[in-house]
Amino acid sequence: MTRTAPIDLRSDTVTRPTAAMRQAMVAAPVGDDVFADDPTVNALQARIAGMLGFEAALFVPTGTQSNLCALLAHCQRGDEYIVGQMQHCYRWEGGGAAVFGSIQPQPLEHQPDGTLALADIEAAIKPDDAHFARTRLLALENTLGGRLLPFGYVQQATALAQSRGLSRHLDGARLFNAAVAQAQATGGDARTEARRIAQCFDSVSVCFSKGLGAPVGSALCGSREFIARAHRVRKMAGGGMRQAGMLAAAALHALDHHVERLADDHALAKRFADGLAGIAGLKVEAPHTNLVFVDLEGPARERGAGLMDFLKSRGVLATGLYRLRFATHLDVDAEGVDQAVAAMKDYFHA
Ligand SMILES: *Cc1c(COP(=O)(O)O)cnc(C)c1O
Repeated sequence: MTRTAPIDLRSDTVTRPTAAMRQAMVAAPVGDDVFADDPTVNALQARIAGMLGFEAALFVPTGTQSNLCALLAHCQRGDEYIVGQMQHCYRWEGGGAAVFGSIQPQPLEHQPDGTLALADIEAAIKPDDAHFARTRLLALENTLGGRLLPFGYVQQATALAQSRGLSRHLDGARLFNAAVAQAQATGGDARTEARRIAQCFDSVSVCFSKGLGAPVGSALCGSREFIARAHRVRKMAGGGMRQAGMLAAAALHALDHHVERLADDHALAKRFADGLAGIAGLKVEAPHTNLVFVDLEGPARERGAGLMDFLKSRGVLATGLYRLRFATHLDVDAEGVDQAVAAMKDYFHA
């Protein structure tokens, strides 16, 4: 069978809603969510808050807006948040917290396993002194670049922050990928692990539009009082949507049907990484979840420039801003992954 659609490994955001998800969207009862009248949005907010063990949640159009609402709800003008150099809510959001909130980031280097060293966090917390911004918040991300943060580390880092009076935010765009990987390691179940991770934090942002396969949407979870503040920020950011229940229905469908299946994406990522293993000059990071990172070394590095175009000519799409990245998701299968491996082999062996 010849494929018509490309094998799109650029991101797990490229998925199209399944037929069943589209049906759920069409059937959703809706109302005006700015009047808090949309029953499906209300149901989604209650569901995700309950799942992760929070009082309240807020449905927002994007993960970027979710993090922005969180940072502005936690921090005042002149406050600062401690964050990793490669975290989305520092590096990849246009500096929004500084631009819109006058909040100063205090970025830290990551350790090789993606964590922020406890000693670095400790050292970055400023004394209460007029010279300094007020350190208000620790922001972590899990998964981070597809890596699962060790749960013991998450507990320690968030306990340290709490003991120093900081609030704790989790950018859990891929929280359920982390939960599925953690469940595999502990023999537990993914939903319990998601809640265990989330409960280390005062607020958690989750994306429905990544591996969960919904077309649009994220949720921010926290206390009722925190979500009321975030709600005001969402309005300022233009994120108050109206009959958003059709989108919330997709997210509810994803929570019902697309959590445990993330394990399939993780298996495909491993299949892809294993397939690349023999290619000289490719340093392939063993994937924890659904993202495979590849660095080119030696002669392969010099040949790297033409790779994307070649892959495209073979019906494979990938991306790489810092490193090559390949994402598996709902719309890729083993056959597609094998085709991508074959294209990589042809390029580097040619
Ligand atoms: C994708 C992503 C976001 C932002 O989501 P958008 O919906 O693209 O704005 C935030 N954090 C992380 C870790 C992400 O991967």
